[in-house]
Amino acid sequence: MNVLVINCGSSSLKYQVIDSDSEQVLAKGLCERIGIDGRLVYQPKGGEKEITDAPMPTHKEAVSMVLDALTNEKTGALKSLDEIGAVGHRVVHGGEKFTASTVISDEVLKTVEECNDLAPLHNPANIIGINACRDLMKDVPMVAVFDTAFHQTMPKEAFMYGIPYEYYEKYAIRKYGFHGTSHSFVSKRVAEIVGKPYESLKTIVCHLGNGASICAVENGKSVDTSMGLSPLEGLIMGTRSGDVDPSVIEFIANKENLDAAGVLSILNKKSGVEGISGVSSDFRDLEAAAGEGNEKAQLALDMFCYRVAKYVGAYVAAMNGVDVIAFTAGIGENTAIVRKAVCDRLGYLGITLVEEKNNTRGEELKISTDDSKVAVYVVPTNEELAIARETVALVG
Ligand code: ADP
Repeated sequence: MNVLVINCGSSSLKYQVIDSDSEQVLAKGLCERIGIDGRLVYQPKGGEKEITDAPMPTHKEAVSMVLDALTNEKTGALKSLDEIGAVGHRVVHGGEKFTASTVISDEVLKTVEECNDLAPLHNPANIIGINACRDLMKDVPMVAVFDTAFHQTMPKEAFMYGIPYEYYEKYAIRKYGFHGTSHSFVSKRVAEIVGKPYESLKTIVCHLGNGASICAVENGKSVDTSMGLSPLEGLIMGTRSGDVDPSVIEFIANKENLDAAGVLSILNKKSGVEGISGVSSDFRDLEAAAGEGNEKAQLALDMFCYRVAKYVGAYVAAMNGVDVIAFTAGIGENTAIVRKAVCDRLGYLGITLVEEKNNTRGEELKISTDDSKVAVYVVPTNEELAIARETVALVG
């Protein structure tokens, strides 16, 4: 079955068509600047990337252009839309209402809408994308795959904040965690690689991308993760601060004459390694700048790695041990100096890296020695494939 995977943001929409039998990507691309002017990027398997500038006032026009490109006589990956068997949608926040992927119905959409409060920037955009697809592909079954669902197995002691209990009861304020599709995909793959049952393995997944989070997966279940009510908590990220003392918010607000939303915008968009270094949020730029002696770029890298190592240590404690540590996503898969700096801080776990293996990029690989007490792997994530698999499992 061919699955159209959609990841819809407020002004962008990423898509892939995946043949679920061969698990090959038949076509992929994105729509950018939706509601501003509009640009479609389309690339069929083995073909050239095509870029078309065309007005996209709403997501419906964007989806319509994607479907046209997919069925274009010359370069389309499909002969007709009948070849799309199902659509899998990434949905950021499922609150406590969704513990697994779900076939989309009117009822389900209403419940997703009830979670909008928890992810005001992301969920409304996801819903717009779902509605646009439902309008244009009326008879095609659709599935929502939630970033939060995998973490719904966390125990209460891990997901509650130390604030009055009534806020949990009244407003559902708690840790939810994100990147669940990736943490689930990578931890399952780890079990396959090491040849042990998923249900009896302790894995720590370090998803280090522009957004970054760590997850403790014990016996196939997420038992703790570093992001919280929103993706702002936890690690230092590209432009997000990660953990700070909440008092910092009032302090900056008073000094800079901002309201809470203004400070949160700084913590989300102007902080992290970019805010510290003043150079970039991209680790390639940071590495280059640090190599040229830029001390703030070096500090940003050191702070990032220190925070990752600290969370790994915390999750070893949470699980009372660890069998495998896996690095994934843009930085986790590509940046050898980060993996080395993190693992150098984890010598107490009996970890030894093989330097030349660590110096490769983007490949599935064991980078620790065979006698290392904890195995360390690079495992490329593939959230689109994970969404396609979930979709087929539900509607196939
Ligand atoms: P997201 O999906 O959260 O946008 P990604 O997982 O794509 O993030 O990771 C993006 C980050 O990965 C970039 O900001 C960059 O720092 C890092 N990255 C990507 N490719 C490389 C590379 N070849 N070498 C070093 N870092 C890389």
